[in-house]
Amino acid sequence: MSRPGHAEIVGAGFGGLVAAIALSARGWSVRVHERRPSLRGEGYGIAIHNNMARMFAEFGILDAVLAGGMRIDRRDSLDRNGRVVMTRKTERSPYRIDRQHIVALLAERALAGGAEIRFGSEVADAAPEGAVVLSDGNRLPADLVVAADGINSTVRDRLGLLKRRIFGRDRGVRINIPRRPAEIASDAAEGTAMIEAWSDKRRVLFCPVTRSEFYVLLTCTVGDRAAATSPIDPDEWARSFPTLRELFVRMRDEADWPQSHWAHFQTVRLRRWSKGRVAVLGDAAHAMAPYLAQGAGHAMMNALGLAAAVQDAPTIEGGLAQWERRERPLTEHTQRWTRIYGTTMFLPAPLKAISILVEKLPWVAAQYVRAANHVPTGCDPQWRRPL
Ligand SMILES: Cc1cc2nc3c(=O)[nH]c(=O)nc-3n(C[C@H](O)[C@H](O)[C@H](O)COP(=O)(O)OP(=O)(O)OC[C@H]3O[C@@H](n4cnc5c(N)ncnc54)[C@H](O)[C@@H]3O)c2cc1C
Repeated sequence: MSRPGHAEIVGAGFGGLVAAIALSARGWSVRVHERRPSLRGEGYGIAIHNNMARMFAEFGILDAVLAGGMRIDRRDSLDRNGRVVMTRKTERSPYRIDRQHIVALLAERALAGGAEIRFGSEVADAAPEGAVVLSDGNRLPADLVVAADGINSTVRDRLGLLKRRIFGRDRGVRINIPRRPAEIASDAAEGTAMIEAWSDKRRVLFCPVTRSEFYVLLTCTVGDRAAATSPIDPDEWARSFPTLRELFVRMRDEADWPQSHWAHFQTVRLRRWSKGRVAVLGDAAHAMAPYLAQGAGHAMMNALGLAAAVQDAPTIEGGLAQWERRERPLTEHTQRWTRIYGTTMFLPAPLKAISILVEKLPWVAAQYVRAANHVPTGCDPQWRRPL
């Protein structure tokens, strides 16, 4: 059987690697360009929902993904003085998995399927007729180009596809730190917890992400310059959360700060998701703030959906148009509800209390988890293994 074609993929993140797996599985020859010298990037916890679980099952790596992460038993909310003010069992999406673990498994799966991954290979441009241009000037023709080069996508901007970039009020940093032996030992007796604390507009969230590491997320408003330093200033954060001082000192001293950055949360919208034979997906096409933990899930779903669409269509351009019609509404639904959720986070206390009640209404709750429970295009709708 002749190959359907050759694909050049930009970026070895969630979107690029899933595109590589899905296209290779459908007979394409595939080359991925990753500008970093290796897969090593930021370590942080990814929440796994049913949509992601279905895709991992489709690729035969679900058990390996879950085996490398942690199941979180409960979620505790702390007040400023470290007292637990609310605790609830984690019933939905209980797994937190380190990004690097998932990306390594996806890359292994892509290589096993026949894809090539080139590290230290930076793409400077792409041509709608089908080609990527590397930073060294080399031009590589392709039947299909997939740009999954992240929120600051060069390819998207070179093709003039950006419609809007909406910057939110807050930013965050994600970082892993080693756990102490006593903390690891306490898992069996006390169970695992995700701890969340708010103090004015600053937020701390942390939980085990592997047996030996905590994942910590700090967020603050964009204007809060004293908080958003790299590394953080433990005294500054301890002013807001006095009982978490030791955690902040450990973050300053033990985290891999050169691999981390404060991300300004934003929503990206494109005029179109493709131009000619170039498709743009993942954060490059539809970044969203992380409140619903769906950015990676959508990058993966849209990469898988893309491979299915170009397989079924008589032309690449027709397949890409069909892909956008099919996948874009759900992605924009999640972006919309992410922004609504983000707005409620900054409401004054009395209104926030009302918004928490509203979130519990079945219709509203269903909007928030629509993508999480979606059966991605290209996955078996009969597959059932609720997380
Ligand atoms: C604080 C925070 C918390 C989050 N938590 C979650 C969560 O719990 N769950 C979830 O699903 N999502 C979460 N997200 C979102 C998630 O991280 C992103 O949506 C996801 O990483 C997007 O994947 P991607 O493949 O599109 O891009 P990326 O992961 O950014 O990958 C892009 C890749 O392209 C490479 N690259 C860039 N430019 C070039 C170039 N010119 N040439 C070659 N290579 C290039 C980069 O080096 C990178 O490896 C969170 C985001 C933030 C900011």
